Amino acid sequence: MRRRDWILAGASLTACATVRAQPSWRRARVVVVGGGIGGATAARYLRLWSDHQLEVVLIDPQATFVSCPLSNLVLGGFTTLEALSRPMDALDAQGVHRIRDHVTHIDTERRLVLLAGSDPLRYDKLIVSPGIDLDWSSVQGLRDAHQSGQILQAWKAGPETLALRRQLEALPDGGVFALTIPEAPYRCPPGPYERASVVAAWMKQARPRSKLLVLDANPDITSKAALFKKVWAERYAGLIEYRPLHKAVAVETGRSAGGVVRFELQSPERADVLNVLPAMHAGPLARTTGLAGSGPAPGRWCPVHYQTFASPLAADVHVIGDAIQVAPAMPKSGHMANAHAKVAAAAVLSSLAGLPPDDQPMLTNTCYSHVDGQQVIHVASVHRYLAQEKTYRTVPGSGGVSDGPTALEARYAWHWARTLWSDMLG
Ligand SMILES: Cc1cc2nc3c(=O)[nH]c(=O)nc-3n(C[C@H](O)[C@H](O)[C@H](O)COP(=O)(O)OP(=O)(O)OC[C@H]3O[C@@H](n4cnc5c(N)ncnc54)[C@H](O)[C@@H]3O)c2cc1C
Repeated sequence: MRRRDWILAGASLTACATVRAQPSWRRARVVVVGGGIGGATAARYLRLWSDHQLEVVLIDPQATFVSCPLSNLVLGGFTTLEALSRPMDALDAQGVHRIRDHVTHIDTERRLVLLAGSDPLRYDKLIVSPGIDLDWSSVQGLRDAHQSGQILQAWKAGPETLALRRQLEALPDGGVFALTIPEAPYRCPPGPYERASVVAAWMKQARPRSKLLVLDANPDITSKAALFKKVWAERYAGLIEYRPLHKAVAVETGRSAGGVVRFELQSPERADVLNVLPAMHAGPLARTTGLAGSGPAPGRWCPVHYQTFASPLAADVHVIGDAIQVAPAMPKSGHMANAHAKVAAAAVLSSLAGLPPDDQPMLTNTCYSHVDGQQVIHVASVHRYLAQEKTYRTVPGSGGVSDGPTALEARYAWHWARTLWSDMLG
């Protein structure tokens, strides 16, 4: 074994632990479930930071990563899904052993991952990043309307994004597009408002007599509120209509796309295209394997020890990404999932080496939002782990928001996305 130092950099902005390559890394197998932003990043960094000694297995059925970040642009007709897609096999060159399969269960007692199409797999450490799932039960009739293709969500980028785009293209001039937003927390706080903006930009050109209703269960816009409101007032007055405190509880459909959405308190709305985003919870695997609590009604999200992202409910299991119960002011974002992954990867390597974890991990976040095809606003923050409070708090004075939309920030947004894809896949 080479006796060289390895820097566990990136896991913390301030404290970089210097660790020698460890013999124990050669004997261990770390399994990562979910090859999205969190899981792929974790797999790649486990290999990098172990000097490629650790056996890392990544399980995900997908052959291609399709980025949710920037996918709203596809709905506005400003980019293609191909431009946001990357082959997962880039990870093979890093020595990550990929298995294209679906994990059906995790036996945390016997440290086994059970797969739909192959033999169970033993692990020494497990990192789980299964993302979110939509809670169909929160909106009556929505599951059927989704299955029939009449009311789409497109909250996981892919074919459904294209199907929703086709519904928009079929919108008559003078028609109504309605987007409903669930109560926070949900995946990507600014995502629905970005979606409204880019769809409005397209409608302004292509369907100028149409209307876009933003029907929000929250009392106000949940991210970059002042910026979105200003943009909507200046660019989309008469086109976008924003209504807070509209919690969707039921939908009704006819023969074609669209239908009626009903709310807990307010009057129902009819729209030609309905994009109903229901409440969300951790991916089903996390909830059926006890990582979100056990019993007939598990929690919506997975609790974690924030210093390491270890599960308090299962030994040697870490949960990262959108599936976790977030710390204060921590968004469910791809940037965050990428940052969680590095803290968890460093903690796993430290633990296998018999070393303590970083005592002050830090996380960063930047969320860029397009307000049309060419201009972008952002919000950024830095989050420090506080040992006394056992949680993350934003660092006072860190981060901030844009002054207003610019084309320069649109260039930053695309560079940010390409950097993220390279960081997770190599
Ligand atoms: C429209 C939209 C715009 C967004 N824009 C931004 C943005 O600009 N910036 C930003 O930072 N974030 C953005 N996000 C949020 C970002 O996409 C998510 O926060 C991020 O993808 C979370 O990463 P994850 O690893 O938790 O989940 P995912 O990336 O969803 O990965 C989960 C993976 O787990 C796999 N999986 C699930 N269950 C199993 C199983 N049982 N067996 C095997 N594999 C399994 C899935 O196939 C999937 O590949 C946006 C989201 C949306 C919807």
